[in-house]
Amino acid sequence: MRGLDGKGVLVAGASRGIGHAAARRFLEEGSRVFICARHAEGVEEAVHELAALGEAGGVACDVGDAADVERMIGAADAFLGGIDVLAGNAGIAWQEDFLDITLEHWDTILDTNLRGMFLVAQGVARRMVARGRGGSIVLMSSTNAYEGEVGYAHYNASKGAITMLTRTMAVELGRHAIRVNALCPGKIATPLQAVAEDAEYTARYVRERIPLGRSGTVEEVAAAYAFLASDEATFITGEMLVVDGGQLAM
Ligand code: NDP
Repeated sequence: MRGLDGKGVLVAGASRGIGHAAARRFLEEGSRVFICARHAEGVEEAVHELAALGEAGGVACDVGDAADVERMIGAADAFLGGIDVLAGNAGIAWQEDFLDITLEHWDTILDTNLRGMFLVAQGVARRMVARGRGGSIVLMSSTNAYEGEVGYAHYNASKGAITMLTRTMAVELGRHAIRVNALCPGKIATPLQAVAEDAEYTARYVRERIPLGRSGTVEEVAAAYAFLASDEATFITGEMLVVDGGQLAM
């Protein structure tokens, strides 16, 4: 894909799943990549694997913690020699009835999925503006921003908010040549999906709700990250790219 070779890419939330696949894809495109995740061992293992493909580094960081994020972005900036692309990917989910959601559970999901994306995106955008070379930010939303999937009230609310954060950032940062878009994947086979819901629920959902009749792969979402970040998408900003096998079309 045009324009990714030599770029400095930060993937926040990338020790496994979609983020890890995105880091791999950016390295395959010739980018330099810096990753973070909460657990240091996961980051170390992922960086070790990624380093076989190109220049890769990373640190442990909880995106919901402001001081941690500032430190992580400083480390990414130094490692990459400037951040050209942010893939704001970190997210958590689990299923529980709306009536059972405790304030603690609500805060836990929102702290990573919304506060975390705000902190990382604002920290990176400030550096992009100061550097004066523009950039591309791709945040992670979900088809759940558009559909009230049962059992996911906190998650759905967090992803709905990401779409408006994305649009508003795109409007405010356009004059700095910073594009801001979001991805809205549907069911993607990842460790998160396996933890968030039982296999029978996923199988039925896929059978009944996805025209292509299968879950998506992490590589299919990674390709969408790369596209939105690349010079193939230089006039696309404020957009949500749905990657869902036709689910929302139904
Ligand atoms: P995984 O759980 O497989 O991977 C999530 C990654 O993010 C891990 O590396 C995890 O590492 C990291 N992470 C989680 N919380 C934090 C945090 N607070 N700070 C820093 N890193 C964090 O998830 P997926 O790959 O499935 O999901 C990735 C993103 O895609 C999420 O935002 C999710 O909501 C979204 N998405 C997923 C879909 C799916 O069907 N799988 C569909 C639509 C959207 P660690 O645990 O060490 O922190």
